[in-house]
Amino acid sequence: MLSVIIPAYNEEQMIPKTVSVIDGILCDACIDHELLFVNDGSKDSTWDKIEEAASGNERIKGVCFSRNFGKESAIFAGISKAKGDCCVVIDCDLQHPPEKIVEMYRLWEQGYEIVEGVKTSRGKESGFHKFAAKSFYEIMSNSVGFDMSRASDFKLLDRKAMNVLLNMNEKNAFFRALSSWIGFKSTEVEYDVREREAGTSKWSTRSLIKYAVTNITSFTSAPMQLVTILGVIVFFVGLATSIEAIVRFFQGTAQPGFTTVIILQCFIGSFTMIGLGIIGFYISKIYDEVKGRPKFIIDKTI
Ligand code: UDP
Ligand code: MG
Repeated sequence: MLSVIIPAYNEEQMIPKTVSVIDGILCDACIDHELLFVNDGSKDSTWDKIEEAASGNERIKGVCFSRNFGKESAIFAGISKAKGDCCVVIDCDLQHPPEKIVEMYRLWEQGYEIVEGVKTSRGKESGFHKFAAKSFYEIMSNSVGFDMSRASDFKLLDRKAMNVLLNMNEKNAFFRALSSWIGFKSTEVEYDVREREAGTSKWSTRSLIKYAVTNITSFTSAPMQLVTILGVIVFFVGLATSIEAIVRFFQGTAQPGFTTVIILQCFIGSFTMIGLGIIGFYISKIYDEVKGRPKFIIDKTI
């Protein structure tokens, strides 16, 4: 059986449409399936819509969070509740073309354990958004060790891969990168990102920045090493200036002003603070992991 995991946050307008489209496509293709909606603490009537859909169709299931935990948590909740031999994660807004699920499923039947959906285009985005996304994926690709620029959450996972992901205790799990990191026999399916049909994107610039920083730091400690590198650079600059100052002192041409001193003070001060900030960030991540709180809290299921 195929489990289709659909995270939904304030998607009341999309639920009925998503249900009929995906269910229709999978029924036509004669694929035994379940649609598992994860209501990520929506503030609108998303959960009612899921209940409504579930009452008329036994293949539809729902998990309701006690509050908003974010898409990553919703995906992991979906994986933990899925009964299928494989699962597909797809957005609720139909931006990921549902026909591709069938293509992914056929590849799974041929023995592939992970089928990645890769974007051929990124859909409509503003200039700043494009630039930010590009920088984020460049950093991520470098730290994960493979190209992430076209990666998305739209992918099929075999039961083996699902179990591996479930056994990871990371609280800040970045699904997109982790599912490639675990390995297994994988292949790709290309798709074009579509326009969202109803509702609005759930990402504000602020939440995207937070998402980027969290995911980068959960995969690489490079920013911490950056502090060391900055420290070394500042040390050499300091050394050069000090030598100059000493030479001038003995020549009797020492600067009467404090320009150099002030500049150095400013630089060192700011580097120290940035450094402390970055280290603090990692400590807070360690703190989060040590507390061992669950990734999500389920309120009810249907
Ligand atoms: N989503 C979620 N929790 C959140 C934000 C988003 O479950 O806190 C879901 C949302 O309902 C959708 C998917 O994640 O199914 C992708 O969200 P969205 O379309 O807003 O992102 P975009 O396509 O703009 O990247
Ligand atoms: Mg979307």
